[in-house]
Amino acid sequence: MPVHAGARVQQTGTFHCRDCDAKVRVKKGERLPDCPCGSSLYTSRTKEPRNRSAVRSRKSLAKRRRAA
Ligand SMILES: [Zn+2]
Repeated sequence: MPVHAGARVQQTGTFHCRDCDAKVRVKKGERLPDCPCGSSLYTSRTKEPRNRSAVRSRKSLAKRRRAA
């Protein structure tokens, strides 16, 4: 579902401009800025698996250590 610039973000996440695919990181409660390209529509991209990626990087670190 597209999100308009100026809309308040319900969940911290990265939004992608629908026209130029620029990535904008917006925190929960903040408003989406207009994209520099002039577009004010973003594709909704609120899912940011922060915890999951942290776990993943920890796991890959362990793997690297084991291999070395
Ligand atoms: Zn744009």
